[in-house]
Amino acid sequence: MKPKWTRSLLEIFWPNRCPACNALIGPDKVVCEACGEHMLLEHDAVCRRCGKVGCICGKKELSYDRALAACAYAEETIPAIIRMKQSENTNFALFAARILAERLRHGIDFGEIDCVVPVPMHASKERLRGYNQAALIAREIATLLSLPCREDILYKEKTSRAQHELNAAERAKNVDSFHIRDIPLDGQRILLCDDVLTTGNTMSRCALLLKQQGASAVIAAAAATTVPRPKRPSPPKEETP
Ligand SMILES: [Zn+2]
Ligand SMILES: [Zn+2]
Repeated sequence: MKPKWTRSLLEIFWPNRCPACNALIGPDKVVCEACGEHMLLEHDAVCRRCGKVGCICGKKELSYDRALAACAYAEETIPAIIRMKQSENTNFALFAARILAERLRHGIDFGEIDCVVPVPMHASKERLRGYNQAALIAREIATLLSLPCREDILYKEKTSRAQHELNAAERAKNVDSFHIRDIPLDGQRILLCDDVLTTGNTMSRCALLLKQQGASAVIAAAAATTVPRPKRPSPPKEETP
């Protein structure tokens, strides 16, 4: 905890804001109360196997075993996600991580977890943004659940274009830019974290790599999951490093 006077100075120069509506909020809050309620996605609205509101389990092979999401990728959450991706406000990562940790703590569906692993971002993009938002989510969950956060296992090469710019066939191929280091994961149950779960391809590719290194189960945790509603704006465009 920072001394009181340091905190007041921080509040003057860098006031804490709700990432969704941009209103000023108390220094110990991560979102305003109204946005917190609106952004929350009911745990039971999401399929525990694929992590989608409209289940995709019958449509594709997924390498992860279980999934959960904190929010819908929807009107209420999009501004918060954009601010997180544009290095403007990372409170959404903390908000989502706290919900996910709470659900994992009480969820009989997910079983024991040995470590938390973020979906990696290419190093040059991470330098540009200042952080990998999936890692912010993973670290907060790991802290809350007293688990190790392993950021050394998976890595990403710079070849891929942003998933949302591609069609279905290109998307499946594009995930080949994910790689794993030669670290044994024998029998480990891993919580894999990402910001937005769209097609499941990214999580599935990373889960497959983790299993090839010996992981016995992978639980996919997403801050937000896209929902099947028409006329929704696409996720913010990202520059390929
Ligand atoms: Zn708000
Ligand atoms: Zn499903």
